Amino acid sequence: MNQPKSFPLTREQVEALTERFPTPFHLYDEAAIRANAQRLSAAFASLPDFREYFAVKATPNPFLLRVLASEGFGADCSSLAELRLCAAVGLRGERVMFTSNQTPDEEFRAARELDAIINLDDITHIDALVAATGSLPSTLCFRYNPGPLKDGNPIIGHPEEAKYGLTREQLFEAYARVRDLGVERFGLHTMVVSNELDEQYHIETVRMLFELVVEIQQQLGVRIHFINTGGGIGIPYRPAERPVDYEVIARGARELYAELIEPAGLDPLAYNMECGRAITGPYGWLITRAIRSKETYRSYIGVDASMANLMRPGMYGAYHHITVLGKEQAPANRVYDVVGSLCENSDKFAIQRELPEIEMDDLLAIHDAGAHGHAMGYNYNGKLRSAELLLRPDGSVVQIRRAETLDDLFATLDLAAAGTFV
Ligand SMILES: *Cc1c(COP(=O)(O)O)cnc(C)c1O
Repeated sequence: MNQPKSFPLTREQVEALTERFPTPFHLYDEAAIRANAQRLSAAFASLPDFREYFAVKATPNPFLLRVLASEGFGADCSSLAELRLCAAVGLRGERVMFTSNQTPDEEFRAARELDAIINLDDITHIDALVAATGSLPSTLCFRYNPGPLKDGNPIIGHPEEAKYGLTREQLFEAYARVRDLGVERFGLHTMVVSNELDEQYHIETVRMLFELVVEIQQQLGVRIHFINTGGGIGIPYRPAERPVDYEVIARGARELYAELIEPAGLDPLAYNMECGRAITGPYGWLITRAIRSKETYRSYIGVDASMANLMRPGMYGAYHHITVLGKEQAPANRVYDVVGSLCENSDKFAIQRELPEIEMDDLLAIHDAGAHGHAMGYNYNGKLRSAELLLRPDGSVVQIRRAETLDDLFATLDLAAAGTFV
């Protein structure tokens, strides 16, 4: 049962937009992002102090951070740049989670300046944090890596092979140490999956965390104040896939809360997550125009976007659905590779894809580009990253990031000096 992939504008509307903003560009649907945020918050309202910290790396645009903050979300950062974005839009304190790894000193300092909740990735980072900032904060969180205790999924791999987090033994040692050093509030974090569509997998992760919270209390007398289940809620990239039902995860988590947390006298335990993909992914599209067609051993459609704008297909072989605007009802009776212009054969948005016949200047919407899309772009071959546009709930469209220019690309080079060198 294929779900039709939605797109909020008509071909004519997009054609009109391209007069103001040339293709390629990313387009985000604010109303759909808000409705999704509200669905998530409503589903998890049965858990104490629920908060979603949007993973900034998924779509690091301050306008979207503002939209999500106005829906009550916080932000999850893992770099200096992401902390700066939060500061710029007034997110700080308990609204910011700092989940980094191999953390440089200056990033620990920046996180402390924002009063963010710091989530340590390793036991040695207790001393590193003190060395970098002079003290420990009163609230501290640790990232748990369950190792071979739990199966991974194909994207994140097996936890024991993942570079993140503390082992179980280290985790107990770490809480005891920071308690003795005066930390007063404790968090427990894990992230073991990525792009996982199976609700049961997310519920099992919650069980693992709840059981640990109880054990930590029993063995150390340390009361955990919040858990953070990480990101990793998947989205249906393929039309045949089913979206994750937030209600099912929330209900499963609430039942486990009643089974494990309440009888242990550990209520209230705040419930946090830090999803990125599921929040904005389905509500962003890469809009690109067909500019070349080529018939060799295969039929190729060359578009004006490339891996500079969306890496996932080239990097992971990921499927992104494509709609030829205005041909939504046309039969998919052609087979194409839809490709960008990089000198890199993986620069393909679709391989041997059944699509309607594509003519030059047709507009294509590449779906599910709202997270880990623009953000992952790179400048190989000197290709420029595209603009980001926001479709407002009133139907207007605002540019929330301009396209890069060659001047941006060359800003770190002194071309005049190079011209007279040697
Ligand atoms: C990437 C990441 C997330 C968000 O993951 P999604 O798959 O986008 O939900 C959350 N937390 C951490 C620590 C991450 O690295």
